[in-house]
Amino acid sequence: MPELPEVEVVRRGLERWVAGRTVAGVEVLHPRAVRRHPAGGEDFAARLKGQRFEVARRRGKYLWLPLAETGTSVLGHLGMSGQLLVQPEDAPDEKHLRIRVRFDDSAGTELRFVDQRTFGGLSLHDQVADGADGLPDVIAHIARDPLDPAFDDAAFQAALRLRRTTIKRALLDQSLISGVGNIYADEALWRTKLHYDRPTATLTRPRSAELLGHVRDVMNAALDAGGTSFDSLYVNVNGESGYFDRSLDAYGREDEPCRRCGTPMRRRAWMNRSSYFCPRCQRPPRPTL
Ligand SMILES: [Zn+2]
Repeated sequence: MPELPEVEVVRRGLERWVAGRTVAGVEVLHPRAVRRHPAGGEDFAARLKGQRFEVARRRGKYLWLPLAETGTSVLGHLGMSGQLLVQPEDAPDEKHLRIRVRFDDSAGTELRFVDQRTFGGLSLHDQVADGADGLPDVIAHIARDPLDPAFDDAAFQAALRLRRTTIKRALLDQSLISGVGNIYADEALWRTKLHYDRPTATLTRPRSAELLGHVRDVMNAALDAGGTSFDSLYVNVNGESGYFDRSLDAYGREDEPCRRCGTPMRRRAWMNRSSYFCPRCQRPPRPTL
């Protein structure tokens, strides 16, 4: 499953290679890839033809391409295995090519949606009325992510204090903050020395500011590691950056020594996932009596 940094790599690739280009034609090669577009593949293709893509946008793991002057945007769902590739027109079709977008210029490349497991796809949606960035209405409830310049730190911190929840739940709550997956949450909590079950109401402002800073650091580090493909023509969401092997301090390190204090790290089942933490650096909250 691609996380925010991988999706941002794709967005930058689309910004560079697709923005400003006009669609000459769309070929839908598998109906599942447009199943979120209820009017079907033919309608999807007809409505894109002749339209011009604006700069790709992202919110958390959600990625979209606004169509100029239409009030609509193409939302990309990458699912488990989806890829958006910019390929030479004469490159052989990928085995799992699902959608092809041709352009009316002489750049010689086309946009391809390739998806082995077909959980992903493309769909066309109206933009929210006041969305300057062409935000599709179906994801209007998704909060901005912490790398977004318009992310409101003070509002996020205030919301944390008001919510009766625990910190890791809050970090994964897409209506509060988007793009923080399980791995990034564990890493940022370890850096901040916070236990995942800490009630958000007990966090002071400086602590929540520190946490937010670590969330951004972890994401930016992953982005730097995964950003090597920006200059290549090949926009690959599954381009493994190696970040997850090299740089993790918490996630996946059960029984290995904490890199700060040497105590063996622990793993606990948490909401159908796992939480990794240092039992010494990240003390569990005292149970409320
Ligand atoms: Zn420790």
